Amino acid sequence: AEDPKRRVLKDVFGFDDFRPGQDAVTEALLAGRHVLAVMPTGAGKSLCYQVPALVLGGLTIVVSPLVALMQDQVAALRLAGVAADTINSSLDRDANVAAWRRVAAGQTRLLYLAPERLMTARMLEALARLDIRLIAVDEAHCISQWGPAFRREYEELSRLRDIFPGVPIIALTATADEATRTDIAAQLFAGRVESLVLGFDRPNIKLGIEAKQDSKRQLLSFVERHAGRSGIVYCLSRKKTEEMAAFLEKNGVRALAYHAGMSKDAREANQNAFMTLSGVVMVATIAFGMGIDKPDVAYVFHTDLPGSLEAYYQEIGRAGRDGRAAEAHMLFGLGDIRMRRLFIEDEDAPAEHKRRAHGRLDTLIGYCETAQCRRQILLGYFGETAVPCGNCDNCLDQTPHADGEAEARIILAA
Ligand code: ADP
Ligand code: MG
Ligand code: ZN
Repeated sequence: AEDPKRRVLKDVFGFDDFRPGQDAVTEALLAGRHVLAVMPTGAGKSLCYQVPALVLGGLTIVVSPLVALMQDQVAALRLAGVAADTINSSLDRDANVAAWRRVAAGQTRLLYLAPERLMTARMLEALARLDIRLIAVDEAHCISQWGPAFRREYEELSRLRDIFPGVPIIALTATADEATRTDIAAQLFAGRVESLVLGFDRPNIKLGIEAKQDSKRQLLSFVERHAGRSGIVYCLSRKKTEEMAAFLEKNGVRALAYHAGMSKDAREANQNAFMTLSGVVMVATIAFGMGIDKPDVAYVFHTDLPGSLEAYYQEIGRAGRDGRAAEAHMLFGLGDIRMRRLFIEDEDAPAEHKRRAHGRLDTLIGYCETAQCRRQILLGYFGETAVPCGNCDNCLDQTPHADGEAEARIILAA
């Protein structure tokens, strides 16, 4: 007999094969187990609950932190002919009522909700009368209060396993350090969960770090080497994104800025231009990226140090999703370290939180300063072992330097 999950994969989503991890996760959920799935950005986490949702029938609840993400997912599912709905604050009352009618009538297979909406007493009571077969918590690292993406609304989700006993829950995240993983497992599952950590390597992304000197010039020369390709440039401040974008524009590069201080319309316009045109450089703060799925991003360039190796990993994961050669390039200077330390100290947070944040920063600095294969360090941090990759600056610099000048340049650049 044909495997029902493969049939759904093919008939509904049009894919012949599961990607690494998707089948194992699906299998575990169909067997009624809770799962914590840790997979890189772009690995295909959505199908890990969408396929089982359709095999199981009934209703699957999907918790997602951002309205925009929910809308995208629901739109994509509907295009594939799947009965998906969302009830959220951006829809008018009539649309929400209509969605609820479909849910209550058993027509909806996947219902997307923000955590604060799901966890209201009235919503939980209404849902308890329905045939809930699966619960998916997307971007589950938001539950970890030690993490950089902590959301208070996610804390409430720890009650789900008691409210819906017997319903398998899947938590999904791309953030995989041990502490966050343990935290998610403890909060959502009281530790009783099958953890599947899968496939962190993105071998097509070349990793490189360069001493920061004149960031504008360094950025321009990098971008010019990738002329005509789409790329994302991350900057620490809103002001800098605008300055950098203007500088690139002045030098003949099609560049747009994106940060949370811009109007919603301006942000949307720039995001749309980036998504639909090719060869546009998006110069952004970390406000840009969650849920962005553009396969042909050729590079991610960091003009400043990210806050942690997890953040770095998530951000560079937006490059090369089409599997083509891509690049992650970062400028690194001592001033960045001071700045990051100040950020941590300025935060209104408990001492323990700050201690961990400094620790995460130390790990990232170690990655920047290593002379070893960067991919080994990166994957090692996420619990994977690897041989030297041959596709990072350190591996590529292993070739003996016959002429003293090139060597001196490398030594002095460090
Ligand atoms: P994630 O949430 O892990 O970042 P998504 O679920 O958004 O990733 O999936 C990323 C992309 O991979 C999507 O365009 C999706 O259609 C594609 N994808 C997922 N699973 C498969 C598969 N088995 N075969 C081919 N493409 C897939
Ligand atoms: Mg996702
Ligand atoms: Zn390497």
